[in-house]
This record gives sequence, structure tokens and C-alpha cells, in this order.
Amino acid sequence: MRAAVCHGARDIRIENVPRPRPAPGEVLIRVHANGICGTDASEFAGPQMYPLHARHGLTGHEGPLIPGHEFAGRIAEIGDGVEGFTVGEPVVTGAALWCGVCPQCRAGRTSICALYATVGLHRDGGLAEFVRVPAHIVFSAAPYGLSDDAAVLTQPMAIAVHALRRGRPRSGEDVLVIGAGGIGAFLTFALARSGARVVAADISEDRLAVARRLGAINTVRAGDALGLTAALGQTGFAPAIVFEVSGTDAGFAAAITAVAAGGRIVTVGIAKHAIAIDARRVTTKELELVGTNALIGREDVPEAARLLALDPAAWQDVAPVAIPLERLVEDGIVPMTEGRAKHIKLLVDPWTKSSRPTEMTTA
Ligand SMILES: [Zn+2]
Ligand SMILES: [Zn+2]
Repeated sequence: MRAAVCHGARDIRIENVPRPRPAPGEVLIRVHANGICGTDASEFAGPQMYPLHARHGLTGHEGPLIPGHEFAGRIAEIGDGVEGFTVGEPVVTGAALWCGVCPQCRAGRTSICALYATVGLHRDGGLAEFVRVPAHIVFSAAPYGLSDDAAVLTQPMAIAVHALRRGRPRSGEDVLVIGAGGIGAFLTFALARSGARVVAADISEDRLAVARRLGAINTVRAGDALGLTAALGQTGFAPAIVFEVSGTDAGFAAAITAVAAGGRIVTVGIAKHAIAIDARRVTTKELELVGTNALIGREDVPEAARLLALDPAAWQDVAPVAIPLERLVEDGIVPMTEGRAKHIKLLVDPWTKSSRPTEMTTA
């Protein structure tokens, strides 16, 4: 089969590799498409998570790796001992793996498992024609009526669903999302659908236009704490919760300034460096700082698929294009590493020969 294989920093090759066979307890998925995100870009620039040179403690993978953790497709083969799937059935997955025996796993908090791993980061993933996946992390997409392209958005939406749960928004509450690209767009939609009054902030007017389409009641174009606070002050918006998705110093400073006293900040974006914060204001405003990591498959994936299906046409502007595997590096990952990606989400279709428009609605 054709697959993108990462051999090291800035070294992804499109190769012919043997089609995998599902091990007992696994299914083989024919990949419809695979979305790429900032994690793929930063691993391309310098692999931190890919176990290229040392065996991974949970997955056992060591060596060149097929990336891709945002995929959906159809069941192609069913491994020994797997029940409940039929060949050709559309499926989605959060791609999340956990050990099941550490204290966090036993408490149900598998997203912070000591050995937490992801298909496509710690074992071969979906930037290929086929991917094998443990069946217990695969969910049928049939009940949700998603198009195959829309189903590909389930994993990033599940990340947003998990962040939302960590933030505990109440219906009618004022919520600010800082950073409307990537997960911020999915979060805006999920929050709006949960009944929150969402304002989205970003430096890009294009992303803010998408945020309004996804349910933001207002948007603020700002890149620093001063600009954001001034703009919010004019609208009288005092968010009880701020989701900081940008992962930047400016975003974090803006979150601490903008959040109402007694409120909470959910840190969604992963900064590239340690961020210094004004802890005095966390103290005097009695703020809560809440982390969120990855997702919990059985809780977040079905909810993500349900949310996506509420307004399938909304995703057309988020992910308008699917590119062929051969264009992955030049048209997908490199523009992302250079901060000039055209769309919030880009899909990669391992079966297409040329770029195609996506189809988010079913006929
Ligand atoms: Zn991702
Ligand atoms: Zn664990």
C-alpha cells in the first residue's frame, strides 16, 4: 500500500509498504482521509513523540513511523476475537491508547495515563491507504449519518469535547475562546451548541468569519492582552471561562486579564516553551487554572460525532480541500510549519490523484 513514512526530522517519504494485517483484537480500516494538525507539523520539524530510535513502552513501536491520528474510514478486515463490526462499515476513532492499569486509568482518567499514546504518533497511523487499530477504540459512524469527509473531523472535535468537559461550562454562561484556528474552531461550535455565549478572539479575520459561522455570537480581532481587553471592554463581555487555545504568552496574558473574577482558564494550546504568568492576578481574582490533555475515547468520540452531525455544512469552510498523499509535505505540512496554512483543517486522501473539494453533507 501507499503510505507516508517519517524517517527523521523533515524526512517524510511516500513509499510502498506491506499492507498491514489486523492482530487479534484489532480491525483494519481502509482510510477514507486523514486530517493533519499542528502536532504533525511540529513532529515533522523535529520528532519528539515518534518512537523512531527507541521502543515505545505501550505500543512497542520502534523505527520509521506512518503519521496520521485524525482519520476515519471503513472496516476492511476484522481480526480474531473482534465482534460487532462488519466489513464496509464506516468507523471513527479518537486514536487514543492507554495502559488500563495505572492509577489514572483505574480512576477512568485515561487521557492522563502514564503511558498515554496515540495511533499515528506512537504507532503507525492513518496517512496511508490502510491502518490497523485496536477494535476497542473504534466506533461505528453509521448511527450519526456523517459524510465520510465529515467523519474525519471526529478526532479533533473529540479533543474539543474533552476540553469543554474540563471547563464545565453552564448553559447561558459567557465564554471566551482565544485562538480560533484548529481546535479553537471545533471548541467554538461545541460550546455554542452546549448553550454557552461564545466570543472568539484571533488575529485572523478569516478564522473569525468561520468562528461566527460556527456559532460565536461575537468575534474580536486582537493579538495581545491590551487589545483584547479593550475590545471586550467595549462590548461589556466578562467571560466566566476562557479557553486559551493559542498556546502563546500573549494569549495567556490576555486570558488572565479578560476572565471575570472567580472564573476559570482552561489551557488547551500547548506552548512551545514555558510561559510566565501573572500569578498575583490568579490569586487576587480567585481564578482556577484547568489543564486538558488529549481525549477519553468512549466519552468524547461519540459526543464529537453527534456534534459534527448537528450542522454538517458548517464544516465546509473549516476543511474545504482534500489533497493527495503525494502533496502531504509540500502542500500540507510545510505551509503549516511556516504559519501559512490556508485552511483551518486540511484533509489528506490516500486514494485521490489530485486535490479535491471535500463533501461535508450527505446526499
Ligand atoms: Zn491532531
Ligand atoms: Zn494508564
